[in-house]
Amino acid sequence: MDVLPRRLEPTMDPGSAAIILGCEPRQIGPCARCQGLTVRYGVRAEPVCRACRAAERA
Ligand SMILES: [Zn+2]
Repeated sequence: MDVLPRRLEPTMDPGSAAIILGCEPRQIGPCARCQGLTVRYGVRAEPVCRACRAAERA
């Protein structure tokens, strides 16, 4: 059983979100769906956050 990835609150510091997501702070931006923080920019961009994608798969 996979644990659902936690949504990152939009109020979270981009530096902290970058550490969790394994990217640069400048790549952090809002999820297209829930506005939670995701890797929004760059070659490995994930416009929809991990929590939303996990919810879709479920
Ligand atoms: Zn989301």
